[in-house]
Amino acid sequence: MFGVTILGNNSAIPTLDRYPTAQIVTCNDQLLLIDCGEGTQLQIAKYRIKRGKLRYIFISHLHGDHYFGLIGLLNTLNLMGRVDPLSIYAPPELEQIIQIQMECSGTALRYEINFVPLMPGYTGVILEDKDLSVSCFPTQHRISCFGFSVELRKKKRKLIPDQAKAYEVPAAYYGKLQEGADYLRKDGLLVKNDWVTIPPEKGKRYVYCADTIYDVNLLPYLQDADVIYHETTYLHELEGRAAERFHSTSVQAASLAAAAHAKRLLIGHFSSMYTELDPFLEQTRPIFPNTDIAEEGVTFLV
Ligand SMILES: [Zn+2]
Repeated sequence: MFGVTILGNNSAIPTLDRYPTAQIVTCNDQLLLIDCGEGTQLQIAKYRIKRGKLRYIFISHLHGDHYFGLIGLLNTLNLMGRVDPLSIYAPPELEQIIQIQMECSGTALRYEINFVPLMPGYTGVILEDKDLSVSCFPTQHRISCFGFSVELRKKKRKLIPDQAKAYEVPAAYYGKLQEGADYLRKDGLLVKNDWVTIPPEKGKRYVYCADTIYDVNLLPYLQDADVIYHETTYLHELEGRAAERFHSTSVQAASLAAAAHAKRLLIGHFSSMYTELDPFLEQTRPIFPNTDIAEEGVTFLV
């Protein structure tokens, strides 16, 4: 299972029906949290996310609507008896922020935090774990900010059953073939793996663009992605305001998704001034039809 569950889709100020940015990415048995706006732990409880399975947290930047929920969540995990280590990937200043809040409240966490600082402008792979790979890339915002690309690789090679039978490989050995092994027959013939299997299918990719001004330099990271999340803080009428504040509009997000030949676009980080979100779809879908509102509580499969 590879999917993204939206916990918050609002920007800046939480509203009564929309929380600030937070998303859970499920990669088989591993849970990743991307951004952690205020109230994230309540959304985790509401949508029955298994907190104990959370292994990695990624914070795109240090505007409050992307991390003010973190201390509360870390504290709750401690109170609930967590002992498994937790990795946090974030701008370096966050380490001090966490430390000072823990110190001032006299809290000693029972679990270890493995803090990985993301230095301004860094681009590249930051995590490899089993079939999961995460890389980050800088976005253009008012302060240092990162997008994240999460890839779930298919590890197993694909068996060609007719070939495997023709070479008399026993069915019990098919699992090993899918892992890349050759097979030595009793008559001494070495059945080479690539005679009976083909390479694994391409992995799937989810790209989270964080907060950003409209920026065509993001295209290489978005190219052919299965699902893209791009912020649309404003409708296109407020293009000028979006640029001033280093945010994007509906039309800009849809144009990038189309140019990148992405398969699907999720939009969010809506300004609190909007009570109705349908106009966002009315502006994006003519440019990129497979667009959806990143609706809270909904899991989108990648
Ligand atoms: Zn921001």
